[in-house]
Amino acid sequence: MAGASQTGQQLAKEGSRMENETTFEIQEKDGLLVHQGVIRVPYTWAAGEVASRFYAGLREKKVLGLRCPACKVVLVPPKKVCHRCFSDLTDWVEVGDEGVLQTFTVVHYSEPDLHPVEAPFAYGIIKLDGADTGMTHLIGEADIKGLKAGMRLKAVFRHQPQGNYLDIAYFKPIEEANHG
Ligand SMILES: [Zn+2]
Repeated sequence: MAGASQTGQQLAKEGSRMENETTFEIQEKDGLLVHQGVIRVPYTWAAGEVASRFYAGLREKKVLGLRCPACKVVLVPPKKVCHRCFSDLTDWVEVGDEGVLQTFTVVHYSEPDLHPVEAPFAYGIIKLDGADTGMTHLIGEADIKGLKAGMRLKAVFRHQPQGNYLDIAYFKPIEEANHG
């Protein structure tokens, strides 16, 4: 028992030495040994050819899509293959940073490990000007009770884009020009 505990302490010590690395500890409770561990899982994820170019565009505060050579649909976010006619897509186009809110949902509970912002907040599907499909994103700077499908939104980029989806921090409602 003492030996096992010692080993556990040793490992735990080693674990804390390697900060954020895997930690492991053995505790004895009511004659049972309880193993407690935290496993760090390093990984590398390749975004792939299409998403890499899309994210590189976001890093420059540009929203890129792929246009189908056959049916002319513009996919944003881009996909390698057209979902309508299965053509290979290679024709990159830049679309607008404003668009129409197609639909949305309001989240009323906070889940810090899952949600990028605190509740209540809204997710929407936004069809950008020049695109034929919508992108899912956060809606910010908005009165969520005033959200309506069909309203216009504009992308707000974060100050220091890094090359990922959250380079657009959120979409915010914009006034139509004739509403002054
Ligand atoms: Zn197509």
